[in-house]
Amino acid sequence: MNEKLNLTYRPVTLDLKTTFRIAHGASDQRHNVIVYLEEGLGESAVVPYYGDTQAGIVAYLEHAASGLGDDPFLIEDILNRLPPASPAARAAVDIALHDLWGKRIGQPLYRLFGLNPQALPLTSFTIAIDEPAVMAERAAACGYPVIKIKLGSPQDEAIVAAIRQATNAKLRVDANAGWSREQAARLIPRLAEYDLEFIEQPLPAGDIEGLHWLKERLRRQKIDMPLFADESIRSAADVAAHAGAIDGLVIKLMKSGGIRAALRAIHTARALDMQIMIGCMVETSIGVTAAAHLAPLCDHADLDGPLLIRNDPFKGLRYEGGHMILPAGPGLGVEAA
Ligand code: MG
Repeated sequence: MNEKLNLTYRPVTLDLKTTFRIAHGASDQRHNVIVYLEEGLGESAVVPYYGDTQAGIVAYLEHAASGLGDDPFLIEDILNRLPPASPAARAAVDIALHDLWGKRIGQPLYRLFGLNPQALPLTSFTIAIDEPAVMAERAAACGYPVIKIKLGSPQDEAIVAAIRQATNAKLRVDANAGWSREQAARLIPRLAEYDLEFIEQPLPAGDIEGLHWLKERLRRQKIDMPLFADESIRSAADVAAHAGAIDGLVIKLMKSGGIRAALRAIHTARALDMQIMIGCMVETSIGVTAAAHLAPLCDHADLDGPLLIRNDPFKGLRYEGGHMILPAGPGLGVEAA
C-alpha cells in the first residue's frame, strides 16, 4: 500500500513594482498561495475581481489535501474528485500534479506534451493605467517589442495616442470590461487609427450579444479590429458559447482551473478558428512558467507576471526582451530563487 500523497501550502504576499491599476481597481500587493504536492510545485493567484480570497483558497486546499489518493499519475481522476470552484484554487493542485508528473518521469512538461520550446510567441509587457505621459514614459523605457496597454479610464484615447508617439512597439489594448456597448462602438474606430493588434475584453463579462452587436457595427464601418475575450471566458464551454462573437481569446490557468482545463479550452478555440493568447494573473514564476509550457500552442503571449513583482520567491521562465526561455529541468523546471 502506497503512502497517501502529501499536500501542504504556503500563503505568499507579492509586492508589485508599480501600483497595478486596471479597470477593476488598483493594487500594490497580491496575496497568492504556493502549493507543495510531494516534490511538485503549484500556485493559486488570488484574483480579487473573481471573488477569491486567500482564506478561501486555503480552505479549498485543506479539503483537496484529504482526497488525493496515493497515485499521482491518476491526474484526471484526482481532478475529477475536486470541487469545480474556485478555478484558481483548483489550478494550484493541477499545476503541482503536472510538475510532479514531469519530475517523476524526468522530463520537462513541454516534452511530455510534444511541444517545441523554441516555438514560443513573444510576450507583451503590461503598462497599467496611469496618466498618459507616465504610461508613455514607461512604454518607451521598458524595451519590450510588444506592449499591452490597460484601458478603461476617462483618458483612453489620450493614453493610446501618447504611447503610440513614444514607441514603435506592437501595441495591444485591454479594456478589462471597462466600456459600455456605446462607449466601445465610439472608441474603437478612433483607437484603430493607432495601429493596434487587437482589443481585449471591451465589454462586461458575459455580454455575448453585445460582442455580436459590436462586431457588426465595426464591420459596417469597415473597421478591422480583432476583438478578444478574457474575463468572459473561463471554460471550454464558454469558448464554444462565443463562436462568431470574437476573433480571439485569452487563456489563463487561474481562470480555467489549471493546465488540463486550459488545454481543453485551447483545442476548442482552435476548432472554432479563434486566435489564442496565453496570459496570466499577477503570479510568481510557478504559475507563469506552467502557462509558458503551453505557449507553443498559442499565437500570442502575455506572460509578464514575474516582471511585475519585486519579490518572486521562485525562478523558472526567463526573459530576454520579449523572448521567453523555458527552463529545461523536469516538470515545470521551477526552483526556489
Ligand atoms: Mg485581460
